[in-house]
Amino acid sequence: MTDTFLSGRTALVTGSTSGIGLAIACSLAAAGARVAINGLGDEAQIQAALDAVREAGGGEVRHFDANLLDPEAIAKMMADIDGWSPVDVLVNNAGIQHAVPLAEMPVGKWDAIIAINLSAAFHTMRLAMPGMAVRGFGRVVNIASVHGLVASKDKAPYVASKHGIVGLSKVAALEYATAGSRDSGGVTVNCICPGWVETPLIEPQIEARRDGGGREDGVRALLAEKQPSLRMTLPGEIGAIAAWLCRREAHNVTGASFPVDGGWTAQ
Ligand code: NAD
Repeated sequence: MTDTFLSGRTALVTGSTSGIGLAIACSLAAAGARVAINGLGDEAQIQAALDAVREAGGGEVRHFDANLLDPEAIAKMMADIDGWSPVDVLVNNAGIQHAVPLAEMPVGKWDAIIAINLSAAFHTMRLAMPGMAVRGFGRVVNIASVHGLVASKDKAPYVASKHGIVGLSKVAALEYATAGSRDSGGVTVNCICPGWVETPLIEPQIEARRDGGGREDGVRALLAEKQPSLRMTLPGEIGAIAAWLCRREAHNVTGASFPVDGGWTAQ
């Protein structure tokens, strides 16, 4: 029998119309949660995401269409979700990337990457966490990156945003450390820091390394640069780790950042 330890809880996963976010939304639904999904996409993509999460199990599923570039749209989304069912589990996952040298980075890309990868998490957390504290249970899982722990060239705004979310998560973990109890599960804030995960986000970086060969050659070259296991992580594997962090018995796991990187940051 499936362990539905999130039954009766509500989760919001930002950027869950694709990739890692969609897989996390499915894992939380499989654990019994009611799930608010968010993210861009056409009607068909959003419907496919809703169907996938519904099929995974759990309670009701709805899409909330806030563009995370806009703090007012984020505030409206959080109020709408609160009216539906207050957020117990908040996964800040939405993220974008643009890889070029610092001096060539378009200013608009810097602003957008900081807004979506970092500031959006500040806004959802500031609006969701007081309610979690009152109820004595809350989980914030921020999807950072190995680039929250180490740098790579050509990724100035991405690395800055991911280091920023690691720091933001530590502050929030400290501020909410005493909320709730061991029995209620407490309020925790953690980061997952993946290396390479097989999703659309990294396709341009695979493409850039094909060197006249096929996609598999691009993947091999990408892994060989930094990920010692030479294996990609699957989105569902990140979903399983995110779900584990939401268990009651993880009440004292807070302020931590978990690399899932095949040894990348051990080097
Ligand atoms: P993805 O491109 O498949 O999905 C990104 C999601 O974010 C989509 O649902 C998209 O609609 C949403 N999004 C983008 N801009 C948005 C906006 N303005 N408003 C609302 N939603 C928006 O990417 P992914 O690989 O699944 O990445 C998810 C997270 O994981 C990101 O934060 C990324 O930095 C992080 N990450 C990915 C990898 C990897 O190898 N794929 C590695 C480390 C960290």
